[in-house]
Amino acid sequence: MNTEYIKIDFETESGAQGLRRAADCIRAGGLVVFPTETVYGLGADGTNADAATKIYEAKGRPSDNPLIIHIADPEDAALYAQTGELYKKLAESFMPGPLTVVMPAKETVPMKTRGGLSTVAVRCPAHPVANLLIRLSGVCIAAPSANLSGKPSPTDARQVAEDMTGRVDMILDDGSADFGLESTIVKIEEDNTLTLLRPGKITPEQLSAATGISLSISDAVTDKLKEGALAPSPGMKYRHYAPAAPMTLLDGERVRCIEYIEKNGSPPIGIIAYDEDVEHFRAAFPDAKIYAFGKREDELTQAHELFKILRLADKEDLCEIFAPLPRKSGIGLALYNRMIRAASHHIVHL
Ligand code: AMP
Ligand code: MG
Repeated sequence: MNTEYIKIDFETESGAQGLRRAADCIRAGGLVVFPTETVYGLGADGTNADAATKIYEAKGRPSDNPLIIHIADPEDAALYAQTGELYKKLAESFMPGPLTVVMPAKETVPMKTRGGLSTVAVRCPAHPVANLLIRLSGVCIAAPSANLSGKPSPTDARQVAEDMTGRVDMILDDGSADFGLESTIVKIEEDNTLTLLRPGKITPEQLSAATGISLSISDAVTDKLKEGALAPSPGMKYRHYAPAAPMTLLDGERVRCIEYIEKNGSPPIGIIAYDEDVEHFRAAFPDAKIYAFGKREDELTQAHELFKILRLADKEDLCEIFAPLPRKSGIGLALYNRMIRAASHHIVHL
């Protein structure tokens, strides 16, 4: 398949035309990669079962792992899902934005798109290119992250091109994604309570404050899924984000981390380090590949950098990667969730 690569620029006629052609492509059952405020998405007509099949094939994704459908207006959710008061509250507080809500599905969403489940995940992106693309397409757009299955989600169009050239019809390039980690996913349960399935930029604290409902956090967000346990969200079962080299998360003071790596690290190693620690690690391990992660307190920068760093690390021939263990609150929880998967749950408390 020939992949067309289009730099989106609203100021120029060719950029605007590109977006119109992308919408035509979606309507015709094609695959279009587009930017969102979280990561890049691999989109197709969410009401077309054959288009969903194409998405699974392009990503190499197991077809029981459902797709999120993207809408241009929060009210459009009612076309595809049984919405209610709680959805309305969430939409008023967080949409358009990086929140996905899981609700009972309507028949307008094919089984294939929702991975055979009776529920459907709905998101209304705020990114102007994503939002306009959906509007121009006139349908909802089913879109997982635009990476090959198992790899980190792409946060810029160059990473998309690495994975998706030859597998999709079009790639819309609008630079670097704003947040850098996938959307928060929350499920509205039958008894009108909320369960957090995937942490993201919208934090559990914000969700509880906006709805007045205490939210339960699925065990699989912070822990390994028990052998034989049913995953509340199918994506939780699958290996995700893991770089080629085994990764260890270190929980402790810098000095203890340096001691641990000196004793246990088998070179060549990579170290993901807070900005404050970069020089110290460089001095202790002059041959290591050091990746600056942002300042210790600056979780927004860390979220923005994480997937880029994991992809960069994969280009080196590393034997091992070490990284700090994030905290489990606020945006830290989103980092924690991605990093324990990248590290296959290998945490060392020092
Ligand atoms: P991605 O599209 O790569 O951001 O991944 C979408 C995530 O949403 C996957 O982990 C899916 O398992 C999850 N998901 C999508 N639809 C549902 C649903 N109906 N119920 C629970 N999880 C869902
Ligand atoms: Mg994904």
